[in-house]
Amino acid sequence: SEIIAKYEVMERVGSGAYADVYRGRRLSDNLTVALKEIHDYQSAFREIDALQLLQGSPNVVVLHEYFWREDEDAVLVLEFLRTDLATVVADAAKANQPLPAGELKRWMIQILSGLDACHRHMVLHRDLKPSNLLISELGLLKIADFGQARILTEPGIDASNNHEEYSRVLDDADNKDTITSTHDGKATCTTSGVDREEEEKELGCLTSCVGTRWFRAPELLYGSRDYGLEVDLWSLGCIFAELLTLQPLFPGTADIDQLSRIIGVLGSLDESAWAGCSKLPDYAIISFSKVENPAGLEACLPNRSPDEVALVKKLVCYDPAKRATAMELLHDKYFSEEPLPVPVSELRVPM
Ligand code: ADP
Repeated sequence: SEIIAKYEVMERVGSGAYADVYRGRRLSDNLTVALKEIHDYQSAFREIDALQLLQGSPNVVVLHEYFWREDEDAVLVLEFLRTDLATVVADAAKANQPLPAGELKRWMIQILSGLDACHRHMVLHRDLKPSNLLISELGLLKIADFGQARILTEPGIDASNNHEEYSRVLDDADNKDTITSTHDGKATCTTSGVDREEEEKELGCLTSCVGTRWFRAPELLYGSRDYGLEVDLWSLGCIFAELLTLQPLFPGTADIDQLSRIIGVLGSLDESAWAGCSKLPDYAIISFSKVENPAGLEACLPNRSPDEVALVKKLVCYDPAKRATAMELLHDKYFSEEPLPVPVSELRVPM
């Protein structure tokens, strides 16, 4: 096929729930690329859709081109990125060396600019975590893996498609979509539960969601169906905390354990913490005894400066409306104060 004529497939470099990723070589000019073969139509469609919208953003992975195969698998030709932020954290943890503040800030700024680009285009990533933040040998960080992304508004398709403008996802904690993408590329709203087969397929990814649970916002853990961009901001807060301490902030072993860890730190989730939380679908089902002395985020960030603790607090808070946006954080004084962020060229990139 066309792809075989243009690329040489080399070794497999990774695999995920629905995808295998290979290193490849473009025959015309020897450029090294990543060939991501996606075995799930829905997930492939989402990834292509989101990446096309975001091309041109320096902190989002480049999609050179893509192919649909007859079996409905897709092959994405992506820029090849050698390592990821999870490796940066793991290497620093192994060496027992905290990341220098100047480097930390440069990583954070790159994540924030990538996420700002996503959110400006109303792309909700939904699966932000260090292993999905890929890094080039030059130290450029790129947000990758948009297989679970949603585009919250799609200008131009509404007129011909009789669905209302939506700016929030109608969804639930187990990825049971109520917004699905049809084969002709138009988004349509369906009622939750209609497409059982599709749901089951999605639910089948439970094992791969294990790593992701640690970055899941409380509203998702309580079964929210009308969440928004703020779920990415919670994940971002967890990632920042991990960069600061080199350890996951909330390493839950199950969904209930995830919530109980969050509550142990932030305190009970009640109307005083987030007005409206008692309306969350699973709020009445999952109840915890009152936490008398929550540990506080300070306790999770020992030896970090008050500015750093404040930064994490702006993201890791119950009320989604109170979370700072990526754009707001880019303008945070933390990034213009000493020690200044180092240039990208001075970042140490794992071999
Ligand atoms: P999934 O959606 O199945 O999780 P990912 O996009 O996260 O798939 O890719 C799985 C693995 O493949 C990644 O963890 C990474 O190791 C590797 N990979 C993905 N994209 C690239 C890329 N552009 N360059 C190099 N390796 C990549």
